[in-house]
Amino acid sequence: MRIRVGHLYPDYLNIYADRGNIAVLSRRAAWRGLELDVEPISTGDHVRPGDFDLYYVGGGQDREQALIAPDMAEKGPALAEAVAGGAAVLAVCGGYQLLGAFYRDRDGTELPGAGLLPLHTVAGSKRMIGDVLLECELEPGVRRTLAGFENHAGRTYLEDGAKPLGRVVAGFGNDGESGIEGCRAGRVVGTYLHGPLLPRNPWFADWVLAQAAAHADGELPTLEPLADTLEAQAHEVSAARAHARGGRYG
Ligand code: GLN
Repeated sequence: MRIRVGHLYPDYLNIYADRGNIAVLSRRAAWRGLELDVEPISTGDHVRPGDFDLYYVGGGQDREQALIAPDMAEKGPALAEAVAGGAAVLAVCGGYQLLGAFYRDRDGTELPGAGLLPLHTVAGSKRMIGDVLLECELEPGVRRTLAGFENHAGRTYLEDGAKPLGRVVAGFGNDGESGIEGCRAGRVVGTYLHGPLLPRNPWFADWVLAQAAAHADGELPTLEPLADTLEAQAHEVSAARAHARGGRYG
């Protein structure tokens, strides 16, 4: 089976090695005999709903976000149609912020968002930097942890009824106060977790892969488990750092 990935703005939004998430998805797909086709989608490119099973977007500085925000907002309706058709989305930090209604950056400029997630973001004066640990429950009754690194000025506020990705165990999360992190709407997930995120959270990498495969194939696959020895160690190190240091203003 071939899984088609549309990588949004790889030339603008790619800090903290967010590109590494694509490498992990490719490798974990290959280990299961699946093929991952990755195509860049940048400014001026058209999104044709149905062309991709997964859309991925990384993080970036306010400057880069300002350069692509109008283009991303324009792509909003086509992305919404793709998601309504069952495509999955993974968005990290600056990309996550621009999936919402808007991001008001540190200069007070309001950057338009794609309107795919029920949230908005406002930059504060102090950056929220450090290791993060979340507790997530993507499947009812199945609690797991996500470990990563955050560095953002933005404070993200979810609309009433919107679902977070997880509860903050250590770190700042969406706004440093609410105790929640990220946002999830079906197969669309946004998070502040860099690192990159997926190498140290193999269960979540497989969750994303399975959502994309479900769109490609029409049914949710059961991916055979992998040893993930190194990945588990990386998770433990990251989680321990979050416990020890998480949650300090930069
Ligand atoms: N520029 C945004 C902020 O500061 C996003 C930063 C990022 O992607 N790490 O909040």
